[in-house]
Amino acid sequence: MGLIERYRARLPVADGARIITLGEGSTPLIQLQNLAVANARNVSLYVKYEGLNPTGSFKDRGMTMAITRAVNAGSQAVLCASTGNTSAAAAAYAARAGIACYVLIPDGKVAMGKLAQAMIHGAVVLQIQGNFDDGMKLVKQIAATEPITLVNSVNPYRLQGQKTAAFEIIDALGAAPDFHCLPVGNAGNISAYWIGYSEYAGQTTGACNLCDGQCAYLRQAVTDKRPRMLGYQAAGAAPFLRGEPVAEPETVASAIRIGQPQSWELAWAASRESGGWFDEFSDTDILATQALLANREGIFCEPASAVSVAGALRDIEAGKIPAHSSVVCTLTGHGLKDPDIAMRQSAAPVTKVAANPDEVKRVIFAEC
Ligand SMILES: *Cc1c(COP(=O)(O)O)cnc(C)c1O
Repeated sequence: MGLIERYRARLPVADGARIITLGEGSTPLIQLQNLAVANARNVSLYVKYEGLNPTGSFKDRGMTMAITRAVNAGSQAVLCASTGNTSAAAAAYAARAGIACYVLIPDGKVAMGKLAQAMIHGAVVLQIQGNFDDGMKLVKQIAATEPITLVNSVNPYRLQGQKTAAFEIIDALGAAPDFHCLPVGNAGNISAYWIGYSEYAGQTTGACNLCDGQCAYLRQAVTDKRPRMLGYQAAGAAPFLRGEPVAEPETVASAIRIGQPQSWELAWAASRESGGWFDEFSDTDILATQALLANREGIFCEPASAVSVAGALRDIEAGKIPAHSSVVCTLTGHGLKDPDIAMRQSAAPVTKVAANPDEVKRVIFAEC
């Protein structure tokens, strides 16, 4: 079941609309078991593994809504700027709908898996001489005058789809967690989670860019608690820490290599209303956390996703997240998106060995 079907009563989808879905959502919420920092403080630490969506990232939640809306409004083509995952999702859902898809990607630093997805789904891929923020400016200009639907997260239907991840977490845990940790790039997702948590708690929020707090969903509260929203950035691309846009964002976590977040006001509203905070991490910390999750917990996520867990662990250790808290971290995308980075930082090299049992045994038992 896709998320529109699962949460239709809380989504702006017209009766009789043609639904464009690939069965997105309902991703696993996995409790981490082997991280000493969390265990020592009795913190219940969960990851929402969004890499298991159909195209391997949370962008599918937004895209099922944005493409459904576009198709039912008669649009024949969609357009986005992307660091990779938005283009992969847009290309797949556009293919499913039978409409055209155009994507602008930055000059370099797009993970190979994401590019492969956009290409195999038949999107027209334009690599611009500029970064994501330049691409964003271009697609907004073009969509303002041409008959083509913009499907970046400035499209309010994107956040409406993405808010369902918060519903799933409450539905799974029976209550909101105390803290929710997210990587922050364009800042749509942290805003979307806050919309979802607020809606389930029957509260209005300045993070909602669709309904101005007037929507009927607010009358159907299922909980009275909302988490504090913690947003984490890469140090080289941390406008929320600087308090202003960053002109030349740089980080190994290419999905959050963004200097001018489009949901700036919404994300500040989420942080302020929830009593949360922002923090930043070096590329070294980010990669170390990606490797930690992979080899201690068996969970493979993208570098950008690992920032959420890096943040949770640091703040648990520092006591900013108190002992006995419940914490959910969103793992935004699958590690297979970017195999080059994983290979480069793998601890164990590949050992070449002759194809006979004695040689294989010699290597396996050499350390014993
Ligand atoms: C898009 C993306 C992000 C950032 O989400 P925003 O809504 O832009 O803040 C983080 N991680 C991954 C893997 C992404 O694809």
